[in-house]
Amino acid sequence: MNGTNINEKTLTKTMSEFTTPPLGDKASMFPLTKMECESELFLQAQSQLDEVAKAMGLEKHLHERLRYPKRAMIVSIPVKMDDNSVKSFVGYRVQHDVTLGPAKGGIRFHPSVNLGEVAALAMLMTWKCALMGLPYGGAKGGINCKPWNLSIGETERLTRRYTSEIINLIGPDKDIPAPDMYTNEQTMAWIMDTYSINVGYTVPSVVTGKPVSIGGSLGRQEATGRGVAYCTRRANKDFLGDISKPSVVVQGFGNVGSITAKMLHEAGYKIIAVSDVFGGIVNKNGIDITKLLEHVKIKGKVEGFANCENISNEALLELECDILIPAALGNQITQDNVTKLKTKLIVEGANGPISPEADSYLAQHNVIVVPDILANAGGVTVSYFEWVQGLMHLLWSEDEVNQRLEQLMDKACDEVFKLSIDNNIRLRMAALQIGVSRLAEAKHLRGLYP
Ligand code: GLU
Repeated sequence: MNGTNINEKTLTKTMSEFTTPPLGDKASMFPLTKMECESELFLQAQSQLDEVAKAMGLEKHLHERLRYPKRAMIVSIPVKMDDNSVKSFVGYRVQHDVTLGPAKGGIRFHPSVNLGEVAALAMLMTWKCALMGLPYGGAKGGINCKPWNLSIGETERLTRRYTSEIINLIGPDKDIPAPDMYTNEQTMAWIMDTYSINVGYTVPSVVTGKPVSIGGSLGRQEATGRGVAYCTRRANKDFLGDISKPSVVVQGFGNVGSITAKMLHEAGYKIIAVSDVFGGIVNKNGIDITKLLEHVKIKGKVEGFANCENISNEALLELECDILIPAALGNQITQDNVTKLKTKLIVEGANGPISPEADSYLAQHNVIVVPDILANAGGVTVSYFEWVQGLMHLLWSEDEVNQRLEQLMDKACDEVFKLSIDNNIRLRMAALQIGVSRLAEAKHLRGLYP
């Protein structure tokens, strides 16, 4: 029905997606290294690292070690479907680096998931955790599936069997999964339960983003959106001269986009358009996000909300606005549509929503971009708070969590904005430089075994 059947044809197709375009100059730089994860997205993540490594004069041996994941696991996941047939899905867990602590990162369920995507996102997690000063390495996982076609029972069996296949990789001191695209608190509860049953006792800290009733943290669910909203307000203040009621377009109305829109709306920002997978809505005078959230609860989508016109996801990105927040999928702003954008500031709620070509175009045209590893780092930051509370048996209030989140976001924004201004570099390069240099220092201090 909807799973990826593992047969020869699929495997051949999947492997061909990993075929690497010629490395050009880089071939002589790194003649021996090549891995199966080199999809287009992975090469993009790698070339960001190459750019920053060059700018900061990173030693070649450290640079090369950071260009590839430390470990990657591919698993086949057989699942009994509701009609009693058995489908096999393909799942991944990649740990890019574990120098600073256990690997950390989300698990996504999506048809775009492949080794290259997961490896690229694992690398981003390394920089994100290092930038935020969290004692973690970077990881990502995922299952190639169409989650919207799976029943709850099928999703549960898929999640549990995936967990059991990767069980030797994960653990509270080894690698701690969390929600990502199309996974949520319930998914984390199933992972935690499967892991706990297998080891024989309850281990809440094997995942973060759990329901509060089984050891989750207050404020975790809202944390990514809260962090995006926080970065947006800081960037408005520092780069746009603190526009008093800026017009905002938000692509995506899931856990990240809806919370971001709600918080900015409460702060007096004018949200003129939002969208979800089914399409978008626009009202140039501003949308009442509190009422829209009630509408979405009943109807399951933003379309049909009072006083708004419908708009496609593509057209939404091209609306004139002060601030654009892509908070849905990756690769939404590319060379095909970047010239049509009419915004001053982009805050990346999603991971990797802007292609490298579009990113350079935006920089040349003085559009400020707050990069994903800073803008959406609120999620992993409160994941860290959840992990700490779990390990130390502490219970922090929601205010305490939010205050701590604001402190860390504030510090990271200060550091990134300052380095960007002082060195006249893009915010993305500044954020990466801070993350990569923390990794480089740690690798130096730890030395190389044996
Ligand atoms: N999936 C989220 C991210 O991309 C959260 C990861 C986490 O909390 O570990 O940052």
